[in-house]
Amino acid sequence: MSKTPITVAYGDGIGPEIMAASLHVLQEAGAPIEIEEIVVGEKIYLSGNTAGIEPGAWDSLRRNKVFYKAPLTTPQGTGFKSINVTTRKSLGLYANVRPCVSYFPFIKTKHPVMDIVIIRENEEDLYAGIEHRQTEEVYQCLKLITRPGCEKIIRYAFEYAIHNNRKKVTAFTKDNIMKLTDGLFHKVFDEIGAEYPSIEKEHWIVDIGSAKMADTPEVFDVLVLPNLYGDVLSDVAAQIAGSVGLAGSANIGQHAAMFEAIHGSAPRRAGQNLANPSGLLLSGVMMMVHIGQPEVAARVHNAWLRTVEEGTHTYDIFRDGVSKTKVGTKEFAEAIVKNLGKLPETLKPVAYASGGSIPTTSGVSLRTPSKKETIGVDVFLAWDEADRDPNVLGEQLSKVDSAGLKLTMISNRGQKVWPKGMKETFCVDHWRCRYESENGPLAHTQIVQLLGNLAASGFDFIKTENLCTFDGQPGYSLGQGQ
Ligand code: NAD
Repeated sequence: MSKTPITVAYGDGIGPEIMAASLHVLQEAGAPIEIEEIVVGEKIYLSGNTAGIEPGAWDSLRRNKVFYKAPLTTPQGTGFKSINVTTRKSLGLYANVRPCVSYFPFIKTKHPVMDIVIIRENEEDLYAGIEHRQTEEVYQCLKLITRPGCEKIIRYAFEYAIHNNRKKVTAFTKDNIMKLTDGLFHKVFDEIGAEYPSIEKEHWIVDIGSAKMADTPEVFDVLVLPNLYGDVLSDVAAQIAGSVGLAGSANIGQHAAMFEAIHGSAPRRAGQNLANPSGLLLSGVMMMVHIGQPEVAARVHNAWLRTVEEGTHTYDIFRDGVSKTKVGTKEFAEAIVKNLGKLPETLKPVAYASGGSIPTTSGVSLRTPSKKETIGVDVFLAWDEADRDPNVLGEQLSKVDSAGLKLTMISNRGQKVWPKGMKETFCVDHWRCRYESENGPLAHTQIVQLLGNLAASGFDFIKTENLCTFDGQPGYSLGQGQ
């Protein structure tokens, strides 16, 4: 059988030990893989490369398209870029898949019947990393949610459910507040969900949904979440299932995939043969499914379940009365190798369908472009005069020639403060001044003229956002209290 080349990084801290243990188990199980090692992480960072990865390593990743990665240490201090984020975004690994399962009664958990899969969007949301300090007091991080981004991740979640015989897909958003961004995620969830009639669908607001997940995870099956909610909740889910040390993850894109444990490099535990290799090994199981080796995946997974069931545990999951033998990293791997070919006796054995990996899409659906018209502009000002009295600002602005536009509202941190604001509202030095056209779509030159007039009157504008309609529907939110 021809072997599949995979790029392997042994990582930092406990990385080399858990990677050696995981590869040993996979190879003993007959995984037809050819390892191409790359060095990324701490050593490269400390040699002066702030990206932590060298051009040759990219060549290997782009050639092999499958990356098995042990945890890396990102040195403290500014300027060092996270390789995880760089790899995910450079290679377009948009879906982060994290199964969170409890192994009761063999591993302590408050949730004996938990079996959920979190599918986290990996590329956008607040993680676009577009941040600006705009005034003395105000800092901004842009939350970008795109239609292709939503379509890709949501379709992936439904396809994952179909391929893995799951019954329900749930989305969490905060679209009661973020009606446009989270609202888009919810809307696309409804649209794409309608194409999967055999799968049950539900949507929760993220706050109460998270509370429910932490309390009653058994009511959930597959969860699909925007990046930030998914980042936080997948760690919560892994921890309440038993331990973050047990969870593996897959980062999947159209052109490549990366498999890793969800925990970090635990430097304090390094070099002592203590660390639990389970998270990395279970991500290796996901990798076997991805490269079309479902039998190897099931063989390894079942041997691991059997070992956990036998009470052979590393220190992090060892509990008196439940565990039987406390072992180190190497001995744990050996115990799994001895169990290859066996099934668990109490826990449910796993089987993987031979359908290969889950289809990915570019997310670009054929849509009729909407009619976009610009009908106004929000001009953001840094202004710190007159005890920050919004009425004074309104009065000063009314004296500036507004290029045929009308000042309709001033808000501070989203709250309308002019006209007719409330004097109790706390104001910072950052003001959104909304100008609207009174007679249909405006010309961009009017905005330029307005900005010129504001600058000439001494106003410090820090950014603008155009107010557009799409097929007549407003593409912007109202001010709170407007
Ligand atoms: P961590 O996950 O490395 O460790 C936290 C604690 O969890 C450890 O002290 C240890 O007690 C325990 N632990 C974690 N994994 C374990 C395992 N396999 N077996 C036994 N115990 C385990 O988190 P941290 O200490 O916040 O981060 C350490 C470093 O890892 C940092 O440099 C961070 O940037 C990096 N990190 C890397 C990744 C990654 O490469 N994917 C992810 C998270 C953190």
